[in-house]
Amino acid sequence: MSNIFDDARSRLHEVFENVAVTDDVRERLMHPKLALAVSVPVRMDDGRLRVFQGYRVQYDDTRGPTKGGIRFHPDVSLDEVTSLSFWMTIKCAVAGLPYGGAKGGVAVNPKELSRLELERLSRAYIRAIADVIGPERDIPAPDVYTNATIMGWMAEEYSQIRRRQVPAVITGKPVHLNGSLGREAATGRGALFVLQQWAQRQELVPTETTVAVQGFGNAGYHFARLAQEAGYRIVAISDSKGAIHSEEGIDVEQTMHHKRTHRELRAMLYCDASVCDEAQQDTLSNNELLELPVDVLVLAAMENQITAENAGRIRATQILEIANGPTNAEADSLLENRGVPVLPDVLANAGGVIVSYFEWVQNRAGFYWEEAEVNARLQTIAEREAKAIFELADERQVSLRTAAYIQALQRIAGAIRERGTQEYFTEHDVAKAADH
Ligand code: NAD
Repeated sequence: MSNIFDDARSRLHEVFENVAVTDDVRERLMHPKLALAVSVPVRMDDGRLRVFQGYRVQYDDTRGPTKGGIRFHPDVSLDEVTSLSFWMTIKCAVAGLPYGGAKGGVAVNPKELSRLELERLSRAYIRAIADVIGPERDIPAPDVYTNATIMGWMAEEYSQIRRRQVPAVITGKPVHLNGSLGREAATGRGALFVLQQWAQRQELVPTETTVAVQGFGNAGYHFARLAQEAGYRIVAISDSKGAIHSEEGIDVEQTMHHKRTHRELRAMLYCDASVCDEAQQDTLSNNELLELPVDVLVLAAMENQITAENAGRIRATQILEIANGPTNAEADSLLENRGVPVLPDVLANAGGVIVSYFEWVQNRAGFYWEEAEVNARLQTIAEREAKAIFELADERQVSLRTAAYIQALQRIAGAIRERGTQEYFTEHDVAKAADH
């Protein structure tokens, strides 16, 4: 396998130095359990047949059925999907969910497809992988360029194949099609619970804490909105087109209203209302936002945003990773040497998969919870796991990311060990021999 997967696995080596795991566990975690490559034929609107390349990788299912999103993107490759399935294995274990990790994807530019073509593609992909998924086996969810509507089509296609209703096969479905209340805001909300635990530990007072948010999509918007409600001062926000900045603080809801109207932040006249008469709002480039001297830099856009190239210019005193892999391995050690704590993605963005788990539980029980119950249960898990990881990092004197991986590995290794390892069988043989 090539680079991305090797990079993903490389993080394990450091963790192995800090946690006692047997050779069996090391060996098991180096290889995905199942990697499926499929052809996905789609009849296009003009009558042509096009065949897209699709994948589903189930990395490890020792702790339960595998869980992970489906990505529609031109760059999707087996290597990328394998890496993402590895991260999902870690993330589910960090959150203590009874799941292993998986990921899927189709190499396609969905923006070039009509809505009907997108629906045919989604259904064809599910037909191609139907034999390896299921509520007790592998449960997909949305990822880049897939959404609740697509999950609804996929769940329905799977139900038609099985000739019965199987809503628990997929999570992230629309609320009207057996989805869970609270799922949409779950990632941002979970990240805020993690930040709140951290703030408590660091004695940060929200009203005196400045925050810059990179990425104003589902995760970044809900985080910014809830963080502002909790009293944090959001001083900068960016999207793919540019950033806005105001030391006075930015009104998140008003910003979203403008973004919906104008489709981008840069077009936003932040000070056009009377309330902002004296607000100091200006526009920045995306890179400038990353280098602002704020208390918390939130990365909620995409991977590889902080690298060896710009890590030295980061002036934030702490970083919250909501995107997957926004800080690469080199930047990670540079930031660590400079004493900038990074609240890692596998903990900070786990809110999405935690509420996906709740959706699966509700589908299987056929009993649906109030949103307040979803949020309260999310809070319990996010705070519990964050606290345990912060304590572990202090105890072992390691970075927060390494502590999160140690916590995950202890759980995965525990499950592998209980199923029997070389040590177990060797001791067993010795014991048997002694009987004779
Ligand atoms: P999204 O597509 O809704 O939003 C992405 C946002 O990032 C958009 O506002 C886009 O304009 C912006 N963006 C893209 N490139 C940028 C750049 N260079 N600078 C600044 N902004 C840029 O996606 P999302 O669902 O919010 O996901 C964001 C990240 O969080 C992804 O890495 C995703 O994998 C991760 N994540 C999301 C969830 C979830 O439930 N939504 C769960 C776990 C992880």
